[in-house]
Amino acid sequence: LLYLNIILLSLSQVLLGDMGTGKTSLVLRFVKGQFYDYQESTIGAAFFTQVLSLNEATIKFDIWDTAGQERYYSLAPMYYRGAAAAVVVYDITSMDIKHLTHYPSKLGAYVAFNDKLCIAVVENPNLVTVLVANKADLATKRLVENEVGEQYAKENGLLFFETSAKTAQNVNELFYEIGDYISYHL
Ligand code: GDP
Ligand code: MG
Repeated sequence: LLYLNIILLSLSQVLLGDMGTGKTSLVLRFVKGQFYDYQESTIGAAFFTQVLSLNEATIKFDIWDTAGQERYYSLAPMYYRGAAAAVVVYDITSMDIKHLTHYPSKLGAYVAFNDKLCIAVVENPNLVTVLVANKADLATKRLVENEVGEQYAKENGLLFFETSAKTAQNVNELFYEIGDYISYHL
């Protein structure tokens, strides 16, 4: 049994807020196969687990779904201690890409939300960071092109997925890739 700790974080153009990018929706889609158009905001943080068999290995995903911690300029260690992967989510319909280009480049060693805030210093140099462009189903409202996120991820050594929690596009693929990547790099 492989234990995988994952933290779900959010990139947002709103300096003090991280709500609404779809973190909770992504994790509910993955864990329960459900989606709600009116997802209640997460208070504090929520914890989810999912066990699955991948390539003959059984993997237990422990997922911390965070909310609003940026406001306090730090994420409590309990959320990122032992994290093997950080999933950083933005919303393709509301992200101002100018903020993305200001992000520090070494997201692997720590997770930063914008040029002013540095949130989680993750004590894991092998942390896998995945940049996720969510709400891909809202194509007509798109503000951030796929290529922009993809290019940013490439330059910064991040994995990249464009997802939709609503249609389930790439959601399982995202978590499977994390499982695959980590079991391969153990
Ligand atoms: P969080 O604050 O990052 O946890 O975001 P939520 O999961 O609470 O989602 C915020 C809002 O966006 C909710 O109304 C969701 O229904 C909606 N939402 C989340 N993911 C998607 C998506 O992929 N597509 C669409 N159209 N809406 C989404
Ligand atoms: Mg939430």
